[in-house]
Amino acid sequence: MRVLLIGPPAAGKGTQAVLLAARLSIQHISTGDLFREHVGQGTELGQNAHSYLRAGLLAPDEVTIEVIKERLARPDTERGFLLDGFPRNLAQAEALDGTLAESESGLDAVLELGIPEVQVVRRIAGRRLCRQDHEHIFHVDYSPPVVAGVCDVCGGELYQREDDREATVRTRLEVYRTETAPVVAHYQAMGLVTTVSALGQVQEVLDRALAAIGQGRPPANSV
Ligand code: AMP
Repeated sequence: MRVLLIGPPAAGKGTQAVLLAARLSIQHISTGDLFREHVGQGTELGQNAHSYLRAGLLAPDEVTIEVIKERLARPDTERGFLLDGFPRNLAQAEALDGTLAESESGLDAVLELGIPEVQVVRRIAGRRLCRQDHEHIFHVDYSPPVVAGVCDVCGGELYQREDDREATVRTRLEVYRTETAPVVAHYQAMGLVTTVSALGQVQEVLDRALAAIGQGRPPANSV
């Protein structure tokens, strides 16, 4: 199954992407994680992308499309994949459609996580990630670790992403409105989009998401 997960910053895409990919037995592919790996390893690509990440701006399309094409070409995506953070604008969506068409495939579903903007800022300010494994995510209020600053899962140090600071969050929201919202409209026109509310407990959102793509039973309080 080939799924695209889309939504504003702090809709819980990272958390849901990991859970959904595991449930669907497909690869979770996050361009943000791919970029952060490059930055962490100090590769040339990482050095070029770092200033964009720090400012909350989109990295250049040529670089991003190159990164995702290389990732989609690996054999572990044969069973399918869940894209998280890509495409973020129409040019990237068209590049993705073209790449998939070359292999005579296409997206099966686009899942949009919906959340009001005030919630976005509250959620982001408290978010903390594990330095050892970026997939372990906590929140100082909503899901605090047992020991402050330490990952419950692997003991790694928790940190705040540079682009999770409030001024950057506002920029990222603006970028989402102007650049990424048209991607939702693009796939809506193809009849691929289902929107689920990102509010509530992680499990509730997961249940809604699975039901929305025909992979689970709809929860009683389905939105
Ligand atoms: P994310 O973890 O998805 O919020 O991504 C973090 C940062 O990586 C973004 O603010 C951008 O600077 C960069 N990035 C991730 N995905 C893309 C993309 N599809 N296009 C351009 N830049 C991206």
